[in-house]
Amino acid sequence: MTEFITDRIRNIQESSTLRMSKLSRELKEQGQDIINLSIGEPDFDTPDHIKLAAIAAIEENYTHYPPVAGYPELRRAIVEKFKNDNGLTYKASQVIVSTGAKQSLMNVIFCTLQEGDEIIVPQPCWVSYPEMIKLSCAKVNYIKAGIDSGFKISARELEAAITPKTRAFIYSSPNNPTGSFYSHEELAELAKVFARHPNILIISDEIYEHINFTGKHASLAQFPELYDQVVVINGVSKAFAMTGWRIGYMAGPEWLAQACEKLQGQFTSGACSISQRAALAALTSSLAPTKEMCKTFQKRRELVVRLFNGIEGFRFHAPEGAFYLFPDISVFFGKSFDGELIKNDEDFCMFILKEAKVTLVAGSGFGDADCVRISFAASSDQLEEAAGRIKEAIKLLK
Ligand code: PMP
Ligand code: GLU
Repeated sequence: MTEFITDRIRNIQESSTLRMSKLSRELKEQGQDIINLSIGEPDFDTPDHIKLAAIAAIEENYTHYPPVAGYPELRRAIVEKFKNDNGLTYKASQVIVSTGAKQSLMNVIFCTLQEGDEIIVPQPCWVSYPEMIKLSCAKVNYIKAGIDSGFKISARELEAAITPKTRAFIYSSPNNPTGSFYSHEELAELAKVFARHPNILIISDEIYEHINFTGKHASLAQFPELYDQVVVINGVSKAFAMTGWRIGYMAGPEWLAQACEKLQGQFTSGACSISQRAALAALTSSLAPTKEMCKTFQKRRELVVRLFNGIEGFRFHAPEGAFYLFPDISVFFGKSFDGELIKNDEDFCMFILKEAKVTLVAGSGFGDADCVRISFAASSDQLEEAAGRIKEAIKLLK
């Protein structure tokens, strides 16, 4: 009965990050000694005070349908977060809470893009953007941001990509999969271009805001002339080690918040009541645990940079944020082992999985087929072991 699957669904790709982490899980269940460096999620547990808030929520009977847009106290806490962390002023009515930043992104894309529209996406980009955009029937216009430009685009490239059909622009900083980060000064150059194009909606994915090794987080929403043009996407998954709780949010123009609420009201309703209470505890308590986690990620970042610098053939830009290394491994294409030819990034990942028992994600899912993504949200011991195994495995390639 597969003919019942619509073209819409047939035409989107499975998330490669989730596919590789599913494979990791399955192989581990079979008893294989797999090191999973495919999934992008903090390996820390959610801090205790947040877990306790969720337990209290159950006891206090937060078990009914929550408001579609989120509990008012959580929306107010998000308003405070924007004021304190980002110097941004929003009303609670401009904020919508969703089931993960993923849903916030999908809401915004679905509400603002349709057939005939174009959206500009710097590439490499997170695996889900192109597929979400496909579902909206809009066309993607990529700007290639290669390793030599630190995986960032310039104002000139942005200006050149804009056409009369450009409706939106989406980017993440710090970036998944490259770890690149735009400083305030760099964003100021892009802001000048956007200010000349007030009809372009800027979707600013800031989910890695707190995992930043180089400087102060910056957002295009902070440029007053762009305020009405920007929707910020964020959530608690990465900052508070809360990936499983599924709470994300958007903040932007009121007309967009209202449209997202309408869509969400027909699709999923409000995000899980218990998780919302946990997110409230996360956002209203000290950022000390978040800062501690970031320090640990920074140590691991130094470690992976050192380890992979020591592996011949891996060429990379040291990440400025998030927890990914995105090396170019194309020198291995055309080599083989045991009769298996490595033709591309997928083959390379499969070779590493088979010979090193480490799962990575192929770069093609992110739009750069010369690269692979290595998540360093794993313990230092696992990272050392994984790098050692990869180093030995690639010696087999001839
Ligand atoms: N944006 C980016 C760039 C991501 O890497 C992810 C995955 N964590 C998300 C959004 C979605 O995050 P979540 O749905 O867990 O809030
Ligand atoms: N965003 C994380 C990643 O890139 C989690 C998996 C996903 O949702 O794609 O690995």
